[in-house]
Amino acid sequence: MTLQVPFAPAAPKIATESNPHCPTCGSRRRMAFARGHDYEHETCRNEWQFWQCNACATVWLDPRPESSTLGVIYPASYYAYQMDKISPIALKGKAMLDRLKFRSIFAHTGAPTSFLDIGCGDGRYLDLFAQRGIPRSRLYGLELSDESIRALQERGYQAFQRRVEDCTEISNGSIDLATMFHVIEHVSDPVRVLQQIARWLSPNGCLVVETPNIDSWDAQLFKDRWWGGYHFPRHWTLFQADSLARLMNAAGLDVVHVAYQTGHSFWMYSLHHVLRYGTRNGTAIAPFFDPVRSTIPLVMFTGFDVLRRMIGFKTSSILMIARRRMDTGR
Ligand SMILES: [Zn+2]
Repeated sequence: MTLQVPFAPAAPKIATESNPHCPTCGSRRRMAFARGHDYEHETCRNEWQFWQCNACATVWLDPRPESSTLGVIYPASYYAYQMDKISPIALKGKAMLDRLKFRSIFAHTGAPTSFLDIGCGDGRYLDLFAQRGIPRSRLYGLELSDESIRALQERGYQAFQRRVEDCTEISNGSIDLATMFHVIEHVSDPVRVLQQIARWLSPNGCLVVETPNIDSWDAQLFKDRWWGGYHFPRHWTLFQADSLARLMNAAGLDVVHVAYQTGHSFWMYSLHHVLRYGTRNGTAIAPFFDPVRSTIPLVMFTGFDVLRRMIGFKTSSILMIARRRMDTGR
C-alpha cells in the first residue's frame, strides 16, 4: 500500500547527510528495507529510507537528517507531547508495569547501589530508585531537555543535560546499573555510545537497553512503510535480538538476558498511519488509534501484547540486559 494523500506539503524539506555504513559492523553491503515519512509529527516532508545490513541484519537510515536540523525534527513541544497527553489511567498502568519490569531486571542484575538512566525524562525511574533507599548522590540521569534537568538537579539528583558521548561528569567504574529505554535507536553512533557506558559500569555492572524489535508480527505486517517503530526520521538504527547482541559485544558487553516488552504504541501508530495516509476514507477514524489521545485501544493492545508474550511470541519492543566484560584490559 502506498501513500494516498500528499504528505505534509507545507512542511520543510530538510538537509540530509549520507550514512552509507552499517552502524553496528561497518559493512556497506545492504538491501532496501522500508520507506516512509514523519507520520507522527509532520516536521518535514522528506521521504526517508531504511536499509538492512547483509552481514548483521542491523537496519539504519540513509541519508539521515543533518545535525543542523535536529531542532526541526525534535521541536520544543516533542518531549512535552510525549508525557502530557497520556491519560491518568495509562500513567497508573505504566507505573505498575515499571515496577514489574524492574523486579524482573533485578533477578538478573542483583540490586544496584548506584543507577544511571539515559534519557531520564522527568525522572520517574530515578524516583523509583530513591524510594528503594539509594542516596540521590548515587542516582544519575542524562536528558537533553534543559527544563527537566534543572528540576531534577533541584531535587538532589545527579542530572546532566548531556549526550552520553559528551558527558564527563560520571566517573569510570561507578555505575552498577544503567538503563537506556528507547534511546539507542536515536543516537548517531551506537557503538561509541555503548562503549562509553561500558566504561562507566562498575565491575559486574549491567546495562539494560530497550528498543523497537524489527522481528515482531506488527513490524512484519507493516514493514514496507507504516510500522510505528520506524518513527521517521528520528529513529536512525533498528535491531532484533542478534544484531543488538552484536552491538553489545562490539562495545565490550556480554548479554545475560533477553525479554520482550509490551508495545501498544507501535500497533496503534501503525494502524493510525495506514488509515490516515494509506487510505482515502480512513482519515476520520485514524485519531482513534493515536496512542497519545486514545485510551481504549491502548488498554486493548497492551492486553494483546501481554497474551502474545505469555504464549512465547516476540513483541515489538526488545529488552536486553548485558554485563560489562572484564577482560578488556581497562
Ligand atoms: Zn552490519
